[in-house]
This record gives sequence, structure tokens and C-alpha cells, in this order.
Amino acid sequence: APTQHPPAVRTTCAYCGVGCGVLAKPDGRGGAAITGDPEHPANFGRLCSKGSALGETLALDTRLLHPMRRGADSAMARTSWDDALDTVANGFADVIAKHGPDSVAFYLSGQLLTEDYYVANKLMKGFVGSANVDTNSRLCMASSVAGHRRAFGSDTVPGTYADLDQADLIVLVGSNAAWCHPVLYQRIIANKRARGATIVVIDPRRTASVEDDDLHLPVAPGMDTVLFSGLLVHLADTLALDDAYLEAHTTGLTEALVRAREIAPDIAATAAMTGVDAADIARFFALFRATERVVTCYSQGVNQSAQGTDKVNAIINCHLSTGRIGRPGMGPFSLTGQPNAMGGREVGGLANQLAAHMGFDAEAIDRVGRFWRAPNMARREGLKAVQLFEAIDRGEIKALWIMATNPAVSLPRADVVQEALRKLDLLVISENVISNDTVAAGAHVLLPAAAWGEKDGTVTNSERRISRQRAFLPLPGEAKPDWWSVAQVAQRMGFGDAFAYHSAAQVFREHAALSAFENDGRRDFDIGALADLSDEAFNALDPVQWPARAGKPATDTRFFADGHFFTPDGRARLIAPAMPALHEAPSPAFPLLLNTGRVRDQWHTMTRSGLSPRLGAHLPEPFVELHPDDAAAAGLKDGGFARITTTHGACILKVIVSAGQRRGSLFAPIHWSGETAATARVGALVAPVTDPFSGQPEAKATPAAIARV
Ligand code: SF4
Repeated sequence: APTQHPPAVRTTCAYCGVGCGVLAKPDGRGGAAITGDPEHPANFGRLCSKGSALGETLALDTRLLHPMRRGADSAMARTSWDDALDTVANGFADVIAKHGPDSVAFYLSGQLLTEDYYVANKLMKGFVGSANVDTNSRLCMASSVAGHRRAFGSDTVPGTYADLDQADLIVLVGSNAAWCHPVLYQRIIANKRARGATIVVIDPRRTASVEDDDLHLPVAPGMDTVLFSGLLVHLADTLALDDAYLEAHTTGLTEALVRAREIAPDIAATAAMTGVDAADIARFFALFRATERVVTCYSQGVNQSAQGTDKVNAIINCHLSTGRIGRPGMGPFSLTGQPNAMGGREVGGLANQLAAHMGFDAEAIDRVGRFWRAPNMARREGLKAVQLFEAIDRGEIKALWIMATNPAVSLPRADVVQEALRKLDLLVISENVISNDTVAAGAHVLLPAAAWGEKDGTVTNSERRISRQRAFLPLPGEAKPDWWSVAQVAQRMGFGDAFAYHSAAQVFREHAALSAFENDGRRDFDIGALADLSDEAFNALDPVQWPARAGKPATDTRFFADGHFFTPDGRARLIAPAMPALHEAPSPAFPLLLNTGRVRDQWHTMTRSGLSPRLGAHLPEPFVELHPDDAAAAGLKDGGFARITTTHGACILKVIVSAGQRRGSLFAPIHWSGETAATARVGALVAPVTDPFSGQPEAKATPAAIARV
């Protein structure tokens, strides 16, 4: 008789913020065939190399399958869930009793599902009484959050992916979308081919995204604000500002324009500071001026900067001043890195947000406290990621729970982070993998977490679209969803009633209800229409964009069409940025600037993508890329090895000599790790310098030296 196979399960890709729909067809042997979901509105069936190789990453060889606890002999040994959860709950309670609620912290991840994020955030901010909940999303899009809040009064992504289909000019700033958001990039290229859209890429490097562009502006590191200040001046001087829009819907033009003139008074000054050819700048300015439908996409090249928030606002200023926002085919557009960085923002998974996009004002604290019936609300912002690990290093944080992230590789000064973790009285790690650099730092308790394909809940992509991640494989060993582990610990800490969750659907309903609680459309994030979903309806939920307000049409998904913003006076704010400057300039000892980033076929610290031989074949070794002139000056040849040194660390990488690399810059990918920094852990080299508004670290311009080994 023919073998009966279960039907394909609709789920969402585990990797980037594009949020592509996936059809997973289990093979009955622990694997699954993966194809793109033709009905998902983010990708219409397309998948990139990483998404299409997801089926190669499902093996259990490297998985953590049972709880583990460090014994009196310092060795990790298998234990029961009951013992592990008691250890975590008692350990956190003891530290809080001795040192207060701000002596404990959670460090979360954009890989978590919204339901995991929600329960962890609720426990820490409503019941422990601290806001020390931050996430690796701090490294990804915190500057975009801060820029949105300064300009719009809320962390609102104005547009949708459909705007990329309708735009006539698409500007990519600090974004190698061809590698980092590939399916969205294919959509941009489809617009170019079908409608003739023009593409401008602003990036110090000649990346893969430059191959299909019409104009590449190789801006000097850190000088994006100069370029967009010059653009604002040019728009004003050529009478291209939308005076009626500015008058009716904005404030701050005068101050922003005065500052823009100080920064970049004309094209010649803009060219001198950015290092870009003046004729190319003039061409970009003319294109922007003449094109009504402009979308400016930006990503980590903008966000991961000591002046990232100002860069975001310099971009938004140009859209607000021309009224190019809230209408089809136009607007600033933040391309989120992780699959659920947006969901983390929604629940308040950042230390400076409370919940459901609310901040720490007294009204919001009271509202959320009443909704949660919380006994111990946090009353002020907590520590952001880099500060959080500095506080651990100083001994101020004594208990930490890390979920689904590997900060001993990914944070700036990763060696110091790894040492700081060893100082904790209690380090709890919820993980899929049996070992990584963070686990090796000395966890006291390891909790086996459900992985992609096993866990069930929701994620939100870059266009505010909530999609279901559905399980299509059984939970292996004793793995459990993260929301379950947190709820179990909360119950053991005496908060049982508020954490008596039995399903992801129940958590989601509560999250949706909180988003609409005493809201009436006054806040941007509202998915109250989803608060009454039955378990069956939650399971069948189609991708849906927020706002999803009760009684409002679901098609009403572009923000700011009416010119109303979420500031107290309803007006958008143009922001005067600080004078652009590198936090630390190159010196004779460190004459180059280290820029870190991703490669096409790997993800984060490779715990999943590294399992696929196909993905590993693209760029199999850690490397540093540099310009031929810099290579010649250092006596380096393509294929040789070099030691990269900064004031924070050193590592040895294979050399790739490329004319696409800007003179004076080094590019090294973030993915590889190892027992010592002398291998390829480039996070160890990065300075712990952060943006003053967002707390996002600078990952693009650490002074560095290179030498042959
Ligand atoms: Fe997955 Fe992003 Fe690729 Fe889509 S573009 S398949 S979400 S990695």
C-alpha cells in the first residue's frame, strides 16, 4: 500500500526579518521537505538559499535534549525538569532577596517567538520588579526604534512591502539586501525589471546589492548623516519641500535645516565629507527631488552606529519634509535583521520599553500594572545590552537567564563578556544546542528549548505582519517551549495565577488584549481584534498586519496616511542631528576601520545554518576583506592569513583582497567562533561604543591594524 505522509505544514522561516512563509512536509524520519509558501504575502513562494536549506538543519546531533545542572563537583550533569526549574526559581528568588530586583536580568533574542518574549517580559517587569530585560535585537534595530519614536512618537514602521513594488526610486542605505534580505531584494529587482524603478545603493562597500543598482555612493564610514543633511539642504534650496505638508503635519524643520546647513551646506561640502564623487551626489539628489515615489530602506549599516539614531532621523527628515510618507510607494523603511525582532519590540522585550509599545511613563506603568495585576511593576528603564554585560562584569548583576542567543560571540568585546559571565552567581541558559561559547563560559543550569519546526507561536516581520510559526516535528527528548519554562519558574516563585498558561494561543490572546487595553487607537500597536481567537482560529491564523483593530478593516495597514502621528500634538518631528563624527578616529597604531557584518549563507553564530553543507560551501572559512592598496601596504596576498588587532582583541583570518572594499576599511563576518579569540571571534575586536539614544553598539567602525602572520 502507498505510504501515507502527513500534509505540509504552513510555517515561517527561522532566519531573517523578511518573514517568508514556508511549507514544511515532514518525511516521518525527523526531517522535512521545505518549499516556499505561494500564498504567504511576504514571499509568494520564493525562498533564498538559507530558507530553502532549512530541511538540512533539523538533525538532533548537536541538540541539548535534557535539563542539565552544575553539581558540587562543578561538572554539568543531567537532571530533571523539576530540579532544574526549582534551581532557577530558588536561585533568582535568593539573589532578589539579598540584592534587590535590579541584581537579576534576562537576555533574550529575536529568535524567540512573541509568546516566549511576552511571558519573560511580564515576569521581569511586572513581578520581579526590574526592567533588566534586553535582547540581541539591541544589536539589530534599536536605533531604528529610537529614530521612529523621536520622529513619530511611536516605534512605527510606516509602510509595507507593497511599497517596494510601487516605488519608482528605491534607496538602500547601509543594507546589503541582496545577501541579508534576499527575497525582499528579489522583489525590488522585479520592480526594476517590470516598472523601471531606479535603485541607489549607499554603502562604503561594493556589495552584492551594487550589482543591479543604477548608482552606488560609497559613503565614508559614519558619514550617512552628512549625505542626508546635504539632501535636505538641496531639497530646501531647490524649493522641493512640501510646505503645505510641513505646515500641517510636522514640527522642527527650522532647527533641522539650520543643523543640516552646518553639516553639509552644499554638494561640494557633502562630497568632501562623504568621500563620494560630487557628480554622483548631485545625481542622487536630483533623482530624489524629481521622484515622488521613493522608499528609503535602511539596515545595519545605519543602525549599528554610535550615531545610528541620528542617521535614522536624517533619513526620515527627508521623507517628512517632502510629504513622502503614508502613501503608496514611499516612506522610510527599516529592514529588520531577525525573524522576530519586531515581535520582541511589540511585547516590550527591550529594557527601555514596557509592553505593547508603551514606555515607562506613569500612565503606562499604571495601565500595564492593572492589566497584569502585577504586584511589583518596574518603574524605570533597565540596562541595555552593552550596559547590562558591563554591570555583570562589575558584579552588580548576579543572576542572568539567557535565551536563544550567544552573547559570548556576538556582543562587542566578546572576550570581556565571556569573562563577565563567569562572575555570575547563577547563569541559566535556555538553548537548542549542547554547547556554544556562552555555554562554555560556565552555565549553572541548561534548559533544553524547543527549536524551529518544534515550537509553536507567532513572529512579526519587517512590515508588521504577524505570521504563525507552527510545529511540524515532535518535541525531541525533554525539550520544551521557552514560554513554558519561564511560566514554570514564575509559578515556583509564587506568581502562579498570572502564569497559569497552557498554550501559546492563550499567551497570544493575553498579549493581543493588552495591546488594545485602554487604547482606542491612541497608540500605534493594537492587535485587539485578535484577542478573542479560539485555539482553532489561532492555529489557522493567516498572516495579518497590525494594526488589527476591532471594527476596522484589515486592509488599512499603511500608517500616517492622514498625517496624524503618535506625538502629543499629533505632529511628526524633524530632528536636528549631532555633527557627524566617528567615535574613535583611526590612529597610526590602528590606521584602518573594522566593519563587521554577515555573509549570504550563514546566520548569526551558525548554530543552525552551519549544519547545512550546502550553505557552508558558499564562503567556508572566516575571512577579512580589504582593498588591494591596503593589502599591498601590509604585504598581504589574497588567500594568505592576517592578524587583525584592535585595542580590545585580536584574531587571525584568511585574506580576501577585493577592489570592492573601500580603502582604509576592513570587512569581517560575525559568524565564526572558537575557543580563543585567536580563531575568528570578531566580536572580541569590536569596541563597546553605543549610540546615546538607542544603546545600539557601533559595529562598523572600530580602529584596527592588520599584519601578515
Ligand atoms: Fe528566510 Fe529571510 Fe531568506 Fe526569506 S529572505 S527565506 S525569511 S532567510
